[in-house]
Amino acid sequence: MSGYERRAERLAQRVEELGLDLLLVSRLVNVRYLTGFTGTNGAFLVGPARCVFVTDFRYVERAKREVPDFERVRGRDDLLETVAEIATGGRLGFDDSHMTVRAHARLAEKVGDAVELVPAGGLVEELRAVKDDAEVAAIRASAALADDVYRWLIAEHGLAGHTEHAVAQALERRAQDLGADGVSFPPIVAAAENGALPHATPRRDAAIARGTLVVVDFGCVLDSYCSDCTRTFATGEVADDAREVYELVRRAQEAALAATRTGAGVRDLDGVARRMIEEAGRGDQFGHGLGHGVGLEVHEAPRLAPSATGDLQRGNIVTIEPGVYVPDRFGVRIEDLVLVAEAGPQALTSIPKELITVE
Ligand code: ZN
Ligand code: ZN
Repeated sequence: MSGYERRAERLAQRVEELGLDLLLVSRLVNVRYLTGFTGTNGAFLVGPARCVFVTDFRYVERAKREVPDFERVRGRDDLLETVAEIATGGRLGFDDSHMTVRAHARLAEKVGDAVELVPAGGLVEELRAVKDDAEVAAIRASAALADDVYRWLIAEHGLAGHTEHAVAQALERRAQDLGADGVSFPPIVAAAENGALPHATPRRDAAIARGTLVVVDFGCVLDSYCSDCTRTFATGEVADDAREVYELVRRAQEAALAATRTGAGVRDLDGVARRMIEEAGRGDQFGHGLGHGVGLEVHEAPRLAPSATGDLQRGNIVTIEPGVYVPDRFGVRIEDLVLVAEAGPQALTSIPKELITVE
């Protein structure tokens, strides 16, 4: 049985448990996860009795190659019409967190009264949160490539004297030169007060000064799998409170990383880092969640945050990224990618965490 067949079989089990006859998988990233299809128009119907992949004529040849494991049907221009020809009765699940209201109305019209449409979003995302061995290997390679880019930034490229925007572009180019398909999100390079914005946009108008902190958040895509890593660097001697905050974030990050184990509550884990930052009187300066899952998408399940629910499972790959943002002054964030493994947490990021000076 191929990896794709195993995934489809697990999903079919869930579909049956929910009393559905078929599930319509319409988000392309989910179709890709389940079948291997990389085109831009395709759908997958999954059920205990039958799995059918549908695409339009443009992708028939590609699907032959990429989707050998499943029955394939050449669909009409409007794939929903073909879906309605396959799902002719019973309960059909659809992705209510993704399908547009308009597409839903069209589907309802095409399937008619014989089919009951049942909201069933999030099922594939649940499966995707637990990585299989091939995915772990792909994400490990993607993280290693991002590490190589960081090592190049530290040892060769440097920070001071370049604009944030130029550094961001250089990171992107370097990743491509080293074989990445691309970056997993536009890189963040944020010096001094710009670093106090967790999602800062790299500035074009001023060179990075010496003697300041610079937050760099960057990841690549390799074989469709994302990586995500943040380091905060110094461009020379920094103020005492900047160094103090750096050490606080580093300790909080390391404590949370050590607690990233099977069965740990996602909210409790967030609390490990949050409590330390609160006890230092900076709780209000850590305004985002501790981390998120990473895989085919750079932000996916599970979410680690005060409002999140559930426990970590073996095979989750998550970021651990506490931060402290001091308005108008500077920010510090340290982010590792971590595999929740049988023997405990396994960091997939290898860049050191003591404050590194990059001139
Ligand atoms: Zn990141
Ligand atoms: Zn992240």
